[in-house]
Amino acid sequence: KKPLHYETKPILHIVDKNPIITENQWRLFEFIASYYLTPLGLVVKAALPGSFMLQHETYLVLNNEQNLENISLTDDEYLVTEALELQKMLSIKDLEKFLPKKKIIGIINSLIEKGAIKTLQEIKEKYRPKTEIYIQIHENYLGQNLDNLLDSLAKKAPKQYRLLMNFFKIQRQGKPVLRKILLQESGISSSVLKALVNKGILYEIKTNVDRINFEKASNKAYDLSNIQNQSLNKIIQAFVQEKPVLLHGVTSSGKTEIYIHLIQKYLDRGQQVLYLVPEIALTTQLVQRLVKIFGNKIAVYHSKYSQQERREIWMQVKEESSKAQIILGARSSLFLPFQNLGLIVVDEEHEVSYKQIQPSPRYNARDMAIVLGRFFNADILLGSATPSVESYFNTQRKKYQLIEITQRFANVKLPYIEVVDLKMAKKKKQTEGNFSRQVIAEIDTTLKQKKQVIVFQNRRGYAPVGQCEDCGHVLECPHCDVSLTLHKHQNKLKCHYCGYSIEKPVICPACGNPSIKYSGFGTEQIQADLIKLFPQHTIDRLDSDTTRGKNSFKNILTKFQNFETDILVGTQMLVKGLDFEHVGLVVVMNADQLLFFPDFRADERSFQMLMQVAGRAGRKKEQGKVLIQTFNPSHPVLQMVLNADYQKMYQTEIQLRKQYFYPPFSRMINFKIKDRNLQKVIDASEWLKKSFDNHFDTVLGPSDALIPRIKNKYIKEILIKLQPSSNLNTQKLKILHILNSFENIAFFKSVEVIIDVDPY
Ligand code: ADP
Ligand code: ZN
Repeated sequence: KKPLHYETKPILHIVDKNPIITENQWRLFEFIASYYLTPLGLVVKAALPGSFMLQHETYLVLNNEQNLENISLTDDEYLVTEALELQKMLSIKDLEKFLPKKKIIGIINSLIEKGAIKTLQEIKEKYRPKTEIYIQIHENYLGQNLDNLLDSLAKKAPKQYRLLMNFFKIQRQGKPVLRKILLQESGISSSVLKALVNKGILYEIKTNVDRINFEKASNKAYDLSNIQNQSLNKIIQAFVQEKPVLLHGVTSSGKTEIYIHLIQKYLDRGQQVLYLVPEIALTTQLVQRLVKIFGNKIAVYHSKYSQQERREIWMQVKEESSKAQIILGARSSLFLPFQNLGLIVVDEEHEVSYKQIQPSPRYNARDMAIVLGRFFNADILLGSATPSVESYFNTQRKKYQLIEITQRFANVKLPYIEVVDLKMAKKKKQTEGNFSRQVIAEIDTTLKQKKQVIVFQNRRGYAPVGQCEDCGHVLECPHCDVSLTLHKHQNKLKCHYCGYSIEKPVICPACGNPSIKYSGFGTEQIQADLIKLFPQHTIDRLDSDTTRGKNSFKNILTKFQNFETDILVGTQMLVKGLDFEHVGLVVVMNADQLLFFPDFRADERSFQMLMQVAGRAGRKKEQGKVLIQTFNPSHPVLQMVLNADYQKMYQTEIQLRKQYFYPPFSRMINFKIKDRNLQKVIDASEWLKKSFDNHFDTVLGPSDALIPRIKNKYIKEILIKLQPSSNLNTQKLKILHILNSFENIAFFKSVEVIIDVDPY
């Protein structure tokens, strides 16, 4: 009907047929933008898969995986594909020359949706989950209809008939058949298959090998033990009070099994479930476990998936498809367009990797999960064997409910932990390289018992420092204030901050003598040492150097799981929540690196890290053993670890935090001031410090950043501490106001200010 009071204009073109963003999503974006003092545009950019974000400079190419003849196109769409066929690659700006400007985005979106074209970004992606095409017969053609169909095909289309017969010959238990096998076995050309697909008799299913399998949920969930069942019931009761629940259960108490039972309840009600894990790596093992129970109701979502795939999952979530009823993902899965979210599980809630550090928005996914959950009135479960101090504090203040499990499943004992005093061992000449003799002996015993060993060293490469013994020159990165790490296998020195790398020098670049000595050790060296010490065993390494390839992480883990590897050396990557059956011994090479890290949370983090590493030992049946090498055996945190005393850690920390006005007793906002020109950094930080001082009580700094120069930019930091009770919004407005004035000063134009709210 024509409106009465104003003139209408015709609709030129529809950009998206359906909105791709929901209201709750938008609320979350706005919340993040305002809480983390980030422009809304950056939040949206972080949230949307790239191909949703078409820009002037976005380049488009034809999708080679699709045959254009199979896609029906409008005239305008055809024009675009034709142009792309000739030019190979065009930007949206280029296309404006021969298409009506206002229509372009709509046309492009439609072409992408039809699979005819892709953005160049998608093509260039490194990580491509391997996809395979399966063929399935349409349900309508089963039973009586099938006979009729076969009869008619046998007469009219003998090739199609033969292909179909081959399909049934290969098919097992009604499962889809791999396209390439069908074509191979039948020896019939793909055009015949296409004809059957076009008729709607067969259809294609594209799947990503890591994600979905067609085993419809093959296993039932384990029955819960009594203790687990009680905890599950307590969780359900606690949810009635509409507060988040913190499940504090020791490692291997079966938290994951409890999540599984809980998730089932929400699926039964037809609700969506978000299962957050701190690291992409963790999805690999978990998805194997969950798929057995939930079949293809589960989808994995994280930034390493291809754009196309993320787009697919996005739409599935939005349409409440059963294929994505459970989303297992890293922090970015918060941003999906949920419709009917019933439960959020935040596993390993204490993990630092929930915090996005770079780029903006610098949000904490655990905290934002709670916000998101509130928008949906969803239940929220945080789980950890070593909860973060702030979450535990929230249970003490009754903001969260606390549920505890103090026993491992099947009463397996917590691992036996021993501290190995390196100072003493060195004195008594009981070390061999980086190992104490005791550690070597225990590794030997464990291997002889046909069990596996994990060796933890939180530093990659071979040696982190190279120094000339004649002139004292230290090999440093020319762009950053850090020493270069030796990667012996590649014969290179690398900067772990900017990626700078050079051939390993033969002589000292300062004095010319061949006297460079490398000290300290990383995972590469430990692996090399172990190969020498245990030549008849397989020793693998898991760190960001060995997991560059798309499947490498999975391969290393699978080999270890299948006991093809005896010893696995790794960084913190292997600490988090992995579940191995045969690990008898865990060795921590050097606890001091953790304990003496300059950060107010060093003690909490060391405790968490060490307890988590220890938790990988002896998870099933027998008690495992953990050896921690250190030069400071009497460090209080080590005593807490020895006694697995979370309470002691918490009480000690909370007192210190109170005394020194640290979170959760204060809120922190950190500013990094960066520029290539040191003087500008100094002046800018002074200016900001003065302005902040006028408005806030506690402003610390400016001080040098932990690494005072990265990629040729000098960095200073200023820290504001606020009373948690103060009205954050007003405080944040003041900050924005100051930064605004700052940006208007011409002299500081090049200076970059990075704001980090809750910088931990
Ligand atoms: P957590 O998540 O607390 O570290 P998991 O859920 O991974 O613990 O459980 C540790 C191990 O014990 C896993 O291999 C798991 O399959 C097994 N397990 C836990 N609960 C049960 C149960 N009720 N029945 C059988 N196996 C169980
Ligand atoms: Zn560098």
